[in-house]
Amino acid sequence: MIELQLGQKIISRKTHPCGGNVWTVERVGTDIKFLCATCGRVVMLPRSRAEKFIKKTAE
Ligand SMILES: [Zn+2]
Repeated sequence: MIELQLGQKIISRKTHPCGGNVWTVERVGTDIKFLCATCGRVVMLPRSRAEKFIKKTAE
């Protein structure tokens, strides 16, 4: 299981339609909320899908 912390940056497996692939973790719980660093859109994913969504964590 990937350890996620609020404010952490992650790289997604798929590129967002805006062209970005860097996201900030906005909420950690049953659902994980990600904020696109490029366009500011938010996605909420259940943890099982969030783990597939994440390619790697970024510093
Ligand atoms: Zn975006």
